[in-house]
Amino acid sequence: MKRVLMLTILTSILFGCGSGKNTKILGVEEFASVAGQKEVRLIDVRTAAEYAEGHLFGAENIDVKAADFAQRIQGIEGEVAVYCRGGRRSLKAAEQLVANGCTVYNLDGGILAWQKAGRSTTTVETDVFATPSGKLVKLHALMHASICIEHDGRVIYVDPVTQLRGRTVDYSTMSKADIILVTHEHFDHYDTAALRQLTTDGTKLVMNPRCVELYGSGTAMSNGERLTLDGDILLEAVPAYNTTTEHLQFHPKGRDNGYILTLDGLHLYIAGDTEDIPEMSNIKDIDIAFLPCNQPFTMTTDQLVRAAQMVQPKVLFPYHYGETDVSGIPAQLPGTDVRIRHYE
Ligand code: ZN
Ligand code: ZN
Repeated sequence: MKRVLMLTILTSILFGCGSGKNTKILGVEEFASVAGQKEVRLIDVRTAAEYAEGHLFGAENIDVKAADFAQRIQGIEGEVAVYCRGGRRSLKAAEQLVANGCTVYNLDGGILAWQKAGRSTTTVETDVFATPSGKLVKLHALMHASICIEHDGRVIYVDPVTQLRGRTVDYSTMSKADIILVTHEHFDHYDTAALRQLTTDGTKLVMNPRCVELYGSGTAMSNGERLTLDGDILLEAVPAYNTTTEHLQFHPKGRDNGYILTLDGLHLYIAGDTEDIPEMSNIKDIDIAFLPCNQPFTMTTDQLVRAAQMVQPKVLFPYHYGETDVSGIPAQLPGTDVRIRHYE
């Protein structure tokens, strides 16, 4: 009994009834509101297998028990929200993040408490990056070619599609769009139901000219054009087309777009449906690239590797890969941080 009391006192000193020097232990409600804030990084510190089964929306996965944990949290600054299954592993992670100078929020009772409170989980994977000035860019892998990007209080969707090969994205549960980019009119990129669901009066919808024609509204962008959106978001439309003789009809040159999106100095290249075209060698300083990979519509894995060698992104997401086996790509690009997400 005495020992329990001592422990309680010790815990209170350390965490001050739930809030310590730079670690705050929060209940589900408080944690949910903190974790949803734009400059808070949400980290699931469980194993990749546990994360894959279901996690909090917007959480990236960094396993606290993995050998590279210390390395992977290097460079993470500011406010971080962590959780694990029951709340113990995340305390360990919190200790290390606090030592790195972060302010950390820990979910009391972990994801078990979250679920017990009736809150939902997701299988949508998230990756978080910091811009040169330290603002966050959160990338959510919705499916195939559908990407959701959160940055500085804005939500950007690229090619949002509701249903594909038995998979569904429920946009009614997601944030409305500040910006939507559509690369071209194929059904796996252009979905009027998703566009209607995500759009408000304030949404800026940017598409290739053919989609604007079909939809009856939106801003048309052609290859080579540039736009500034919402004051500080830079957008450039770049070519995306087929070069293989028998495939030219899928994406004829000049019709469809890829996009280069610059968010506070972080450069993202979303290639659209394309092969490894010569114009890619003019695309420089890309931090994060999305390159497509499926036959017969876009690239083979060898072509994707060649495209990546031209663009030289720091981080590469193979996307739009369908049934293609992309597991061999990381070994073919040793200098690149290749991340395979559920962009089937
Ligand atoms: Zn297409
Ligand atoms: Zn496609």
